[in-house]
Amino acid sequence: MISGIRGTRDILPSEIGRWQHVERVAADVCARYGYCEVRTPVIEREDLFAKGTGESTDIVQKEMYAFTDKGGDRITLRPEATPSMVRAFVEHSLEQDLLFAKLYSLGPMFRYERPQKGRYRQFHQLDVEVFGLADPAIDGEVIDLAVTFVEELDIASAELVINSVGCGDCRPGYSAVLLEALGSRLPELCGDCQRRASTNPLRIFDCKVPADQPLIDGLPKSENFLCEACRDHFEEVKRHLEIYGHQYRVSHRLVRGLDYYTRTTFEIIGSSLGAQNALLGGGRYDHLVKQLGGPDRPGIGFAAGLERLVLELPDEKGSSGPADVFVVAFGQSTWSEARVLARDLRRAGFRTLIDYGERSSKSQMKRANRSNVQRMLILGEDELASNKVTIKEMETGHQETLPRDEVIGYLALHCQGVTL
Ligand code: AMP
Repeated sequence: MISGIRGTRDILPSEIGRWQHVERVAADVCARYGYCEVRTPVIEREDLFAKGTGESTDIVQKEMYAFTDKGGDRITLRPEATPSMVRAFVEHSLEQDLLFAKLYSLGPMFRYERPQKGRYRQFHQLDVEVFGLADPAIDGEVIDLAVTFVEELDIASAELVINSVGCGDCRPGYSAVLLEALGSRLPELCGDCQRRASTNPLRIFDCKVPADQPLIDGLPKSENFLCEACRDHFEEVKRHLEIYGHQYRVSHRLVRGLDYYTRTTFEIIGSSLGAQNALLGGGRYDHLVKQLGGPDRPGIGFAAGLERLVLELPDEKGSSGPADVFVVAFGQSTWSEARVLARDLRRAGFRTLIDYGERSSKSQMKRANRSNVQRMLILGEDELASNKVTIKEMETGHQETLPRDEVIGYLALHCQGVTL
């Protein structure tokens, strides 16, 4: 037996309803906020992420599934969606086609990480991106979309955290302040932090090593070192969150693991996932489009981890319930008509089961019971002769015989959630 690969998961019939529920709500919320769906390939050029996600990130340094294909090109499974979305936006000049370049995508991502609950090597994201808008109102709207999405999934006690990481004007100064504050104590921090100090000192705030925390907690906060334009932008973002009535916490430690962020960063944190508790995260990236060879357009977006949302979903969500009908052929001569009846019910919109192998009526009924179906439609020789069908409601035991052409009307009245 060849088993699945570590860090990947099969999404089985018992869970698929919860997944479909999350995907449906995602697509629905995005459509209501004016976003268009795009689907980009799972494989891309390795360069796209080296340039986009950033050479100094863990993703690019350690986690990409990169390989040389048979034609000699360096290819990778995508580790995140944003660079692909930027590529598609630029390659197809989407800003010319769309009133607003507001895009979303759903699909698998791949990172060679250490698997644990809520962290996998193949995982799935909802990715939401906006190109071409610098107005802090869009930061507010994107964050509002993220909050609405989580609320519509009925995920309780999620917390919104925001920060500003500044821009090309103020961040170098702040990075220098951080290095100065660390001074001779830098060697006390872990190896990753030492590396970060020379590549991108802000990312020291990402460190999770317990021994490093007291020193990191005492470092100067970014909010006090923003340039005037970044400070104004951040104040406006907060004002928008307030007009929408959203509670939030400002955390200067929210720098996120990717290099391209400018100004706004945000996360929504779940309550029951332990260490892997970020349900979604994102921010503004005003230089990424240009950096990847496109026009000089700002961008903002976020990615939500579907595995984590499915894990946090209330238990009762996403269950589609048992089938509406089990058609039982009572007697050998009734099979053909029973199959046509099942086909007609399926075409009319009812979730219909029927057995195979011309089994006895007793074993069909056993199977109907096991399926938890809501009702049986019994077609016996008498019913066949009089063009009727017997319906048995499983819960109440109520049974009646109806003309064949009244069956669909009966089911429309008795099946919940069916629209004809
Ligand atoms: P990122 O793309 O790293 O900004 O992450 C955005 C969101 O994707 C996180 O908040 C998680 O919900 C999810 N995510 C990131 N990495 C993983 C992973 N390895 N396994 C499962 N979910 C992940």
